[in-house]
Amino acid sequence: MAVYGWIGLGNMGGPMASNIFNAGHTVRGFDLSQRAQQNARDGGVEVVGSIKDAVSDADVVFTSLPKGVHVRSVFDGEDGIWEHAPKTALLADTSTVDLATSRFCHEESQKRGFVFVDAPVSGGISGAAAGTLTFMLGGDEDGVQRAREFVAPMAGNIIETGGATTGIASKIVNNMTLFINLMGIAEGSQLAERLGLDAQTFWNVANTSSGQSWAQRTWYPVPGIVASAAANNNFDATFTAELALKDVSLALEAGNETGVNLEAASLAAEMFQALIDQGLGKKDCSLIAKLASPDGTV
Ligand code: NAD
Repeated sequence: MAVYGWIGLGNMGGPMASNIFNAGHTVRGFDLSQRAQQNARDGGVEVVGSIKDAVSDADVVFTSLPKGVHVRSVFDGEDGIWEHAPKTALLADTSTVDLATSRFCHEESQKRGFVFVDAPVSGGISGAAAGTLTFMLGGDEDGVQRAREFVAPMAGNIIETGGATTGIASKIVNNMTLFINLMGIAEGSQLAERLGLDAQTFWNVANTSSGQSWAQRTWYPVPGIVASAAANNNFDATFTAELALKDVSLALEAGNETGVNLEAASLAAEMFQALIDQGLGKKDCSLIAKLASPDGTV
């Protein structure tokens, strides 16, 4: 049985850490939010008061934090992971961050004698709770092989993507594709309705035809068609517009770095920004269907 240090016990990190506990391991977790601390405690995590207390005795340290800036701050500095984790601990970041942050974590970890793996996840909050996340593992062969065992209690799929930062690069491209698909689904759902099509019948057509996608199957933005869709619940978020904009923006940054022209991703970013400007940033990202609706209702 291993000792896990865990920094960031939010919507994803909390249930992931709990699955580690349920698999029989010790998890020492740290988070700034009282609510996250309480949820984690309820899930069996030993909640501690500092990064030092979470990591100083760990076999592996995981982070699950909002953005690159948070990841850098918990690794770096005199209260950080690099200062207090034993050199034998494997370090793995499951957050969705920019490529530069992931590169920084790899390079600095190596300089300081640690092995770091970028280990972003796909599958959302429900996948985190069920222990069925897809993990994308990027790093040196040795680190990736060690990471496989540590992530197993949280994973439905484990994919070795290659060297340093290939996990996070895979995640960024995957999510960009998802949100471009979602734009098509959002506009398609509105056009189908205004053409007088029965929503269920059209969904049946699209779901067995060339227009099908994960967004279509899971997030269809019309109430009563897909059980998992936020549309059934007044668009309360399963994935917020703010988080969607963050992820698409990471792809746009990567496009800038590499000279790839991302017209569709730019448009997706504009659409999520439009929802945020309307005060709907905490609502579900599939509410972009509203932007196509002639009277703004969905
Ligand atoms: P969240 O905001 O619910 O959780 C993040 C947690 O980090 C919060 O509890 C916050 O208090 C804590 N935190 C922030 N700064 C900290 C610090 N300095 N020290 C300790 N704790 C700190 O976010 P989430 O939905 O759990 O997402 C976490 C990461 O996973 C993000 O990068 C997100 O993009 C990614 N992700 C999310 C989903 C999803 O569906 N929510 C899916 C895949 C990946």
